Amino acid sequence: MILGCTECKRRNYTSFKNKKNDPDRMEIKKYCKWCKKHTVHKETR
Ligand SMILES: [Zn+2]
Repeated sequence: MILGCTECKRRNYTSFKNKKNDPDRMEIKKYCKWCKKHTVHKETR
């Protein structure tokens, strides 16, 4: 699983473990080091 920032479209996180935190909504607010702020991250393929 790859999480990508929806603002800069970069892939930020891979192999995200905590599925239980977000069972079906794969939209997670995480810190993007490229945007230098918290943005919504989505699962990408
Ligand atoms: Zn970003």
